[in-house]
Amino acid sequence: RSTMEEPSGTHTKRKVVAVVGGGLVGSLNACYFAQRGFNVEVFETREDIRQAKIVRGRSINLALSHRGRQALKHVGMEEKIVSQGIPMHARMIHSLSGKQSPIPYGKKGQYILSVDRANLNKELLTEAEKYPNAKLNFDHKLQDWSPETGLMTFARSDGSTEHIEADLIVGCDGAFSAIRKQFLRRSRFNYSQTYIPHGYMELTMPPIDGEFAMKPNYLHIWPRNTFMMIALPNLDKTFTCTLFMPFEEFEKITMTSSASHFYYFRLPAQAMVSVKCSPYHIGDKCVLMGDAAHAVVPFYGQGMNAGFEDCIVFDEILNQFDEDLSAALPEYTRVRVPDDHAIADLAMYNYIEMRAHVNSKWFLFRKHVDNI
Ligand code: FAD
Repeated sequence: RSTMEEPSGTHTKRKVVAVVGGGLVGSLNACYFAQRGFNVEVFETREDIRQAKIVRGRSINLALSHRGRQALKHVGMEEKIVSQGIPMHARMIHSLSGKQSPIPYGKKGQYILSVDRANLNKELLTEAEKYPNAKLNFDHKLQDWSPETGLMTFARSDGSTEHIEADLIVGCDGAFSAIRKQFLRRSRFNYSQTYIPHGYMELTMPPIDGEFAMKPNYLHIWPRNTFMMIALPNLDKTFTCTLFMPFEEFEKITMTSSASHFYYFRLPAQAMVSVKCSPYHIGDKCVLMGDAAHAVVPFYGQGMNAGFEDCIVFDEILNQFDEDLSAALPEYTRVRVPDDHAIADLAMYNYIEMRAHVNSKWFLFRKHVDNI
């Protein structure tokens, strides 16, 4: 089938933009493209998470910071999302002895927010759907696409396939992007991926007597050098704890070991990958954003935030080049690659900082003195 039909009598045909992936970055991006009047179609492999009983994602909650908020603000979503988040003013370091020491994130009054991933995704999908020129297509798994024609092939769960064409394809299909596969076949495409030796597992800390079990306005950290746990608060007064530990340590924990007295490990530990690539575009046809362009390890809390920032950066470039895609796409690569690679490096550095350096007295002292 062809994509959205133009209303009869329209003189200038609006460009058709296919956003592949309706996760956090794809759904926000749909709002951006729709706001400028493009005809937007989102293709998401999963069913509509607003109707699903179980929503699987990469984490239950995540930290929203300034750059993510700026991007939400641009499509009028900042207030709504912030009102559903829990401010975290500082990290709270839990020492082995049980002592708790806060390390502020910024100046007085500055904070990051703990937000529910599934809820954020749902809100963004609902927002995208409000635009009459945006359409959400669930149960559409991208199989392949042609950089020459922009023709995409989608698999449906009933076994059928659909072929759809677009003027611009925006790959927001995450760390294991199917869109990116075409990039890998091309000359002079740089690509690297690194799995770190740690895995992660999420655990829930329930409320005690109906109240948060710990102080809520902090990102709690138990740094233990080789491994660590963090906890972010949820609106239902639970904390989602994430245990980061080398896979070989996870494998030692069996149901007969002492850990099973405390935790019931239902799911296996998840892997964490860092992906760097360049360029982010092919001609005037396709551009990668979010984790599809730059999956980072989660220790800097900036993966989604950087992906949200991609949307605002691309939007500004479209303004600058009067929506000329053949100029805007290379400019986006030129501007964005160095910044995203820097975030990836910082996240990798914080992988050590969070579980080890925050333990040192020197670090605690420096954080207080520098107020960072
Ligand atoms: P995704 O969220 O992965 O979404 C991709 C979407 O594409 C999915 O909906 C998927 O179903 C769909 N899709 C995939 N393949 C196809 C296909 N072939 N066809 C159609 N659709 C497809 N970031 C932060 O900023 N702050 C944090 O605190 C934070 N914490 C994190 C904690 C953990 C444990 C992890 C793993 C990550 C964390 N992140 C955090 C990073 C954040 O999760 C990602 O950066 C963010 O999810 C990227 O959004 P995305 O839309 O690019 O990709």
